Amino acid sequence: MVKGARKILVLGCRGCVAVCSAGGDKEVKILSAALKLGVKRSGGEIEIDEDTLVRQCDPEYIEPLNERAKDYDLVMSMACGVGVNFVADRCPDVNVVPALNTTFYGANLSSGEWKELCAGCGACVLHLTGGLCPVARCAKSLSNGPCGGSQGGRCEINPDVPCIWQLIYDRLSKQDRKEELKNIMPIRDWTTAGHGGPRRRVREDLLP
Ligand code: SF4
Ligand code: SF4
Repeated sequence: MVKGARKILVLGCRGCVAVCSAGGDKEVKILSAALKLGVKRSGGEIEIDEDTLVRQCDPEYIEPLNERAKDYDLVMSMACGVGVNFVADRCPDVNVVPALNTTFYGANLSSGEWKELCAGCGACVLHLTGGLCPVARCAKSLSNGPCGGSQGGRCEINPDVPCIWQLIYDRLSKQDRKEELKNIMPIRDWTTAGHGGPRRRVREDLLP
């Protein structure tokens, strides 16, 4: 990505990526040092500036960047994909590239381990499934019980992963609520899950 660039800005984010030790101040320094070394080893020259914004997903932090970004051949954002998009939208004259490969949005299980628990589908059913998500945590996003491949409580797609419908059943059984599973969920409208194009949410009460 940096090939041919003479001056770049490595731009970190102190939001979620910093918490995940992927794109905060420390990682900006590590990446910048690695890039300098890599370019030098290949006989090139590069000038690298470093900065870290409070967040790359809020305009108030990005706006001061627009003018400044014009000084660079390239801005390498260390935010998640949302941050990279947000910076690119607001800096139309600059080549903005991602330093990270955003995998998913999840929870921290333990140091160095994260798990996807919600896919932001926009039609939450957690009240029907004991608080466990069949959209994000079932490989087929099934709505009404397991597929035929669930064996011994494991998922047929990946036996390292529990079948979420087994966990839902176990949990509702323990809470004496398994009768609730007899209620058939209607066919989902997947347009709220992003299948109807990019989503947008407006809270009138928060508008200026
Ligand atoms: S049902 Fe949808 S909104 Fe609710 S946890 Fe699962 S993916 Fe997220
Ligand atoms: S085994 Fe369970 S979690 Fe895996 S795809 Fe089938 S229903 Fe979903």
